[in-house]
Amino acid sequence: MNVYDSARIADVLAPLGFTPVDAPDGADMVILNTCHIREKASEKVYSELGRLRHIRDRRMENGSSAMTIAVAGCVAQAEGEEMLRRAPHVDIVLGPQTYHRLPEMVACAARACVGKGGKTGAGILDTEFPPAPKFDFLPQVSTQGAAAFLSIQEGCDKFCTFCVVPYTRGGEYSRPVDDVMAEAKSLVTKGAREITLLGQNVNAYHGESASGREWGLGDLIRALAEIDGLARLRYTTSHPCDMDDSLLSAHGEVRNLMPFLHLPVQSGSDRILTAMNRRYRADDYRRIAERLREARPDMALASDFIVGFPGESQADFEDTLRLVHDVGFAQAYSFKFSARPGSPADMLEDRVNKAVAAVRLEELQRLLDKQQQAFNRESVDRALPVLLDRPGRNPGQLAGRSPYMQAVHVTADSSLMGSMALVRIDEVGVNSLGGRLVGWEEGLDGDRPEKRACA
Ligand code: SAH
Ligand code: SF4
Repeated sequence: MNVYDSARIADVLAPLGFTPVDAPDGADMVILNTCHIREKASEKVYSELGRLRHIRDRRMENGSSAMTIAVAGCVAQAEGEEMLRRAPHVDIVLGPQTYHRLPEMVACAARACVGKGGKTGAGILDTEFPPAPKFDFLPQVSTQGAAAFLSIQEGCDKFCTFCVVPYTRGGEYSRPVDDVMAEAKSLVTKGAREITLLGQNVNAYHGESASGREWGLGDLIRALAEIDGLARLRYTTSHPCDMDDSLLSAHGEVRNLMPFLHLPVQSGSDRILTAMNRRYRADDYRRIAERLREARPDMALASDFIVGFPGESQADFEDTLRLVHDVGFAQAYSFKFSARPGSPADMLEDRVNKAVAAVRLEELQRLLDKQQQAFNRESVDRALPVLLDRPGRNPGQLAGRSPYMQAVHVTADSSLMGSMALVRIDEVGVNSLGGRLVGWEEGLDGDRPEKRACA
């Protein structure tokens, strides 16, 4: 989501003459787009701000033009005024719902005048939740390459007890169907072959269609799949309770919906799931995984896990290990519980000892890594379609994703960037696969570059 927001921020600033640069040293403005989900992510912001202050001071000493420092995203939303006090060298603090107003804020910062949302100390603060969604004001999306993101839903009404999202991103909002379709078509015209639909809770999507009927994510995916030239669709991140029948069946029916789903479960213990306010039981999750695989037998699943939630016993943790064994994951992210200010779980006593949580996390990660390696090894000797969308690890290589979200590196001419190659896998690394270019995915070769790079 932050990658998408950053790209849109660049779109907003382009008419003012700003273009992205690779490093802060030569920048007239630096915007940190921040994440508040765990304490570690939040704390990084302040160390990064210290580094930026040094860079700015050095520039001033050298007589270069001034550098504006802005902080966007959820840390900005949550800490607003406190951030301006703690880091007075910050010029602009803006939340995730107000970045369409950046041009006014930049102008105000230049004139040091009072900003839209008010001015605290020396900096401008705009962390409002405006009544009209920012999407109504954003300029047309610019190119994002072969694999693009498209934000269709924001915010969350679920209020899991550990999570800050409902407070930092606000309540659930779904973009109207026509807006989403127009942005998807525009991305495809600009070279996208894969689109990942984004939302904090993307499968809760309920956008208004032109007929006035509300569309769910299943309807939207079926319509997007018809766009000429769009080879792949994905969506992230989903909540198990919003996997409705239409969406589940779309996985069996829509050929360009990729057989990979990130579906966070958090825990395998019913007691902990209740304390987290997740609203499903571990067996509900097992059943959803089964139904997805009934619809699409090669479905690969990924998930998120939290260990050491307050009150988690060894037996609860073992329930999580059991669920991992039962379901089998191709990829996963796992975290120690991080107490977030303002979230209900922050008030819970019965905290799990840090050392115990660390041991559990290690054990869980060992199991998840083993599953990921086993899943990746199954790819060896298979020819997988890979959308080549970025430079590879080594010179002369390109990289991209398999249908199952595995990163694949392959020796290929840079002219093949953006094409859908067939890659025979012959190498399994820790986090990626390597292979040989052997052809092009059937049915998707109409616009392929010359064949010369094929073996
Ligand atoms: N909407 C998604 C999750 C979004 S947050 C869902 O409902 O599952 C991304 C991930 O960060 C979560 O899945 C969770 O595993 C992790 N996370 C969120 N808050 C956390 C916290 N307080 N401590 C540790 N991990 C957390
Ligand atoms: Fe946070 Fe996801 Fe729960 Fe919403 S559904 S509160 S985003 S964890």
